[in-house]
Amino acid sequence: MNNKDIIDLDSKYIMQTYGRQPIALTHGEGALLWDADGNEYIDFFAGIAVNALGQSHPKIIETIKKQAEKLIHVSNVYYTEEQVKLAEKLVEITIFERVFYANSGAEANEGAIKLARKYTGKGEIIATNNSFHGRTLVTVTATGQDKYKEPFKPLPSGFKHVPFGDSEAIANAISDDTAAVLVEAIQGEGGVVVPPENYLKEVEAICREKNVLFILDEVQTGFGRTGEMFAYELYGIKPDVMTIAKALGNGYPIGGLLARGDVATAFDYGDHGSTFGGNPLGCAVAMTVIDAIKDENLLENSKTVGKYLKDKLIQLGEKYDCITDVRGYGLFLAIELDRESAEFTNKMREKGFLINSTAGNVLRFAPPLIITKNHVDKMIVALDGLLSEI
Ligand SMILES: *Cc1c(COP(=O)(O)O)cnc(C)c1O
Repeated sequence: MNNKDIIDLDSKYIMQTYGRQPIALTHGEGALLWDADGNEYIDFFAGIAVNALGQSHPKIIETIKKQAEKLIHVSNVYYTEEQVKLAEKLVEITIFERVFYANSGAEANEGAIKLARKYTGKGEIIATNNSFHGRTLVTVTATGQDKYKEPFKPLPSGFKHVPFGDSEAIANAISDDTAAVLVEAIQGEGGVVVPPENYLKEVEAICREKNVLFILDEVQTGFGRTGEMFAYELYGIKPDVMTIAKALGNGYPIGGLLARGDVATAFDYGDHGSTFGGNPLGCAVAMTVIDAIKDENLLENSKTVGKYLKDKLIQLGEKYDCITDVRGYGLFLAIELDRESAEFTNKMREKGFLINSTAGNVLRFAPPLIITKNHVDKMIVALDGLLSEI
């Protein structure tokens, strides 16, 4: 099947919820991908910040093969070694004490909200404008973008929104019924929006002072994306609860929530559950992802190639007036334009580069953490060429 055959069947059989790029991808290797017409692409998208190790990573292939031969799924009615070992590893590399496994970012956030309500006995969650926390009814309600939730009313109650980056607004919004504050470290879908330097530290202090839980959504920022293993390290903060997914499984669907202190033991028997969550295949893959990030120095690569890319983007920003901002950390970068970014995504794809357009006028660069300076050079030449034509 070629691109057109696949796209035609999609339009016939699949619910048309996605604004897709008009190509069907068939295979990949590292930071390269190929479509069904045989075109090659360099990947600056990584399946929405998921494929940290790129495509067809030998260690991921080996892990999946080996684990599939042993055990794929048994449910949480039984214990598995993979599940406890991954939990031990997650606790070792973070400030948290316990984990609950989910299958996606939205489920991780659902779990975190349930945990906060159970622990505090209170209902209200304070989230921020322009945020993204998932598409289930609760997480889309937590999400601070009306376009995602307007058609689905009535929405669950208990959510308040305040501007992102304004800690005073959080302090003012907290009431006697507030269970938790839920924020992204850096807003991803919202356009790689980096908060003011002290914002998260201030939010942490406010939460402590007012006895409210601090939930950090690291679904997109986690696992090396920002150059640190987790973005909370970037800001020197200690949230009570953290949610993870995306890069954890490098494409195998696995997510989770982590908690510390008394919150970590707030769920009792029967309080929460998942059929697939933490199955041995997902846990085995996640362990391989974490080990590979360490063994292959991918945090260092995220920092150095990220800085290299950011410097090049800044240079383009100085050269072209239509670039109004360059921002981000590690390999989580963006340029903001004075016009719609979708056209840039299309033109760059035609030149052989996959880049994401988000928040209307933002180009988001979130390549696999294995990306090289050579890949960056090629992309920058193409982007420079495109910018010089407008
Ligand atoms: C992608 C994302 C989610 C939702 O994750 P899904 O796996 O799509 O449910 C939640 N929070 C953030 C910050 C995300 O980027």
